[in-house]
Amino acid sequence: MEAATIFTAVSLMMFANGLVLVLVSRDLPVELRPAANWWQIGTMLIAIGCAVFAFGAPLPRPVMLFGANATMVLGLTAYQAAIQSFCGKRARPVQLLPAAIAIACGLWFSLVTPDFRMRVLAVSAVWDWLMLASIVELRRGSRDTASVSSRILIGIFALVLVYTLVRLAAYLSMGLGPDFALETGSAWPNLVSPIIMTLLPVVGTTAFLLMCSDRLRRQLETAAATDYLTGLPNRRAFSEQAATSFDAARRRADDLAVAVLDIDHFKWVNDTHGHDVGDQALAHVAHCLAEQARDTGMIARTGGEEFTVLLAGLGPAEAIAAVERMLRAVEHAPFDHGLAPVPLTLSAGIAARAGDQTFDEMLRRADNALYRAKHAGRNRLAVSPLPDPVSAPVIAPRREQRLRVGAVG
Ligand code: GH3
Ligand code: MG
Ligand code: MG
Repeated sequence: MEAATIFTAVSLMMFANGLVLVLVSRDLPVELRPAANWWQIGTMLIAIGCAVFAFGAPLPRPVMLFGANATMVLGLTAYQAAIQSFCGKRARPVQLLPAAIAIACGLWFSLVTPDFRMRVLAVSAVWDWLMLASIVELRRGSRDTASVSSRILIGIFALVLVYTLVRLAAYLSMGLGPDFALETGSAWPNLVSPIIMTLLPVVGTTAFLLMCSDRLRRQLETAAATDYLTGLPNRRAFSEQAATSFDAARRRADDLAVAVLDIDHFKWVNDTHGHDVGDQALAHVAHCLAEQARDTGMIARTGGEEFTVLLAGLGPAEAIAAVERMLRAVEHAPFDHGLAPVPLTLSAGIAARAGDQTFDEMLRRADNALYRAKHAGRNRLAVSPLPDPVSAPVIAPRREQRLRVGAVG
């Protein structure tokens, strides 16, 4: 088969793929559309480059070569912009510089002083540079969330990069003259190149779209597990994690405690300052608690003005100390919404792992302890089970009584 025939077939495939991408990109979320648009532009430009090779015979040869090379190198530049946009960066005009160099060299070595070797050398170097930049960006951008599709795309970029180098070495070692015709010559790179060129616009497009859908899936998973107001894990995420930790602690006979913390008189905050200020107060408390819980355990917003902390590896005494620190942190970080500071305190119920069969049993004990803390006057913590009459089932605020200890039934 002639190279021109292969170029015709692959350019048609690329155009078809580009059109599919135009239709599909409307279904993508807004933040992914710029990346999809860049990828679409790249695909169409590479398709045009291949079409120029396939149908450009009537054009003066240097013009045809220049046109094909210029559109292809611009296509790879658009791919690089697509990857950057996918990784959250804006494409900058300076990124056109490699393409400008390749186009200038193509112009010079095709039209001014025809030199096939120099032209192929310059264009291959720029192609490789653009593909390397895309690989580096993809690796950096997907370090935390490496998906199979992003690895496949990296693989395709790497394959085309290596092929470009091999083809360059082959061309240079062939001793080709200035009249060598890439689109009609029968040297093996002329037949393989158009096929390799389809990898990015065709297979690469599939991998790119899968990468977008993987991003979407992760975003949905995160949203489903996160409380929108505070950014903390929500009840669902907490329950899953807590059940797993409870089972592991039970198996290994490890310490584990859970604490339920509830803002005192929060209805008063809403009624006095309005619901918006109430929302800000919730975010403020969540922030204070998350700071305190950073090294201690997982904290989640499990109800309206209720937070739950999972204290893995902590026995009763350590759990009491950790929760006490949390209560005091909130108490001493006054919430100021621009007018007068709004005092905020919490009450907490703690349950350390004892004979519970399930995490829910332990959580119920913590809830009961919270109820006792509320009844005992709020701004304090209560512990379940009651260890003995003289230890500290209810710990009142230090401010009032410097860790008053007393028994509460
Ligand atoms: P207690 O000390 O007994 O816990 O009293 P409280 O007022 O905090 O408890 P109550 O259960 O009577 O009221 C809880 C309030 O929390 C009522 C509800 O409007 C408010 N609330 C729940 N979720 C939100 C929210 O997302 N934003 C705001 N601003 N308020 C909320
Ligand atoms: Mg409350
Ligand atoms: Mg409540």
